[in-house]
Amino acid sequence: MIIYKTLEEIELMRQSALIVSKTLGMLAKEIKVGVTPKYLDKIAEQFIRDHKAIPGFLGLYGCPSTLLTSVNDQVVHGLPTERPLQDGDIISVDCGAVLNGFYGDHAYTFAVGEVAADVLQLLEVTKKSLYLGIEQAKAGNRVGDIGFAIQTYCESFGYGVVRELVGHGLGRTLHEEPNVPNYGRRGQGKNIKDGMTLAIEPMVNMGTHKIKKLKDGWTISTADGRPSAHFEHDIAVVNGEPVFLSTFDYVEDALGIPRSTPTQAAIPTL
Ligand code: MG
Ligand code: MG
Repeated sequence: MIIYKTLEEIELMRQSALIVSKTLGMLAKEIKVGVTPKYLDKIAEQFIRDHKAIPGFLGLYGCPSTLLTSVNDQVVHGLPTERPLQDGDIISVDCGAVLNGFYGDHAYTFAVGEVAADVLQLLEVTKKSLYLGIEQAKAGNRVGDIGFAIQTYCESFGYGVVRELVGHGLGRTLHEEPNVPNYGRRGQGKNIKDGMTLAIEPMVNMGTHKIKKLKDGWTISTADGRPSAHFEHDIAVVNGEPVFLSTFDYVEDALGIPRSTPTQAAIPTL
């Protein structure tokens, strides 16, 4: 069952997403050669609690951490380790937080030091595909239109779009209906309607779309060992159009790169 949200609930979800956006922005300043994902996890948990929110992943389905940190060929669900980040790594940081009973859930893939040009392109294309997918999240369209836009764009670069893991509805629980695959056919799937709140999150591999689960029972990595990227935004459908609940502004300002999230309202300070 899809749980449609009122405008008041959507405003609360924007505040939940904002905590995560700021957490990722804080982490953007810390991610560098020599830093461990375990350390990032520790400071993220503290930051979220300092903002009167609750880490959204910690304890959920038995998750042992605040962040999921997936390095290089890891796709998603990487558990933070003590392995220091190395020059040329990429790290996908997925973070959730709960505030006022609603979840925020978004992710960004960061480059560490000097990253190879083809890997940087994978990051750029995956981020762009997220926005192309979000553009399709409007009334009159179907969920399949989102996946079609993401898949078509990413595959035009020869990349593999992960099938087994998908985006999702978001609200008082982390995963609500509908599933939002990053692949699909135009005009198929559930109707997109006002009040839908979705986490859209392309997971894109440089090589094959195939994945495997590591022995830790959590980490998903590419089957061929090539790199993978993951970007995630939370959106709501309001007046027939997608409205961003999350923003990459804090991350991109920290990185000194142009902002990618469309500006829809002044971002309130916490
Ligand atoms: Mg996520
Ligand atoms: Mg998600």
